Amino acid sequence: MSLDNLRDLYQQVILERYKKPRNKGKTNPVDRYQKGHNPSCGDTIELTLKMAAEGNRIEDVKFEGEGCAISMASADLMADALRGRTVDEALEMVQKFQAMMRGEVEFPSEFRKLNVMQGVAQFPVRIKCANLSWHTLKAALEAAQGSEPIDVVSNE
Ligand code: ZN
Repeated sequence: MSLDNLRDLYQQVILERYKKPRNKGKTNPVDRYQKGHNPSCGDTIELTLKMAAEGNRIEDVKFEGEGCAISMASADLMADALRGRTVDEALEMVQKFQAMMRGEVEFPSEFRKLNVMQGVAQFPVRIKCANLSWHTLKAALEAAQGSEPIDVVSNE
């Protein structure tokens, strides 16, 4: 695939998710809640998680928010990828996503949809938009592990 076609594909997936998100709303019940903000673009996100009764596993993920197509599409794709993962696996994915945005790694094929966000890494100013939901997720999971809860996490 040529670079132009690849770029079109990224844009297609991002726009489609932005227009028709599959994971918008709030989980029931809300076991974890975290707000995140990306001041450089004005994106905000409210992330909610439903945890499985046992096993420290994420059962459901939803988000609400306002922002650019990249931040919203990234949150939607993230929610798909997290369902059924343990907290440790999810934290590992946060690191992997951030490394991917630095151009260091790619996700294995089971998470290949997340790799579309790599296209965004060509536009450094947009990387924070893509990272916002992951940054917010990290805070949501870490708050539950005993660190101080933060009202709104900022990725500045
Ligand atoms: Zn943005």
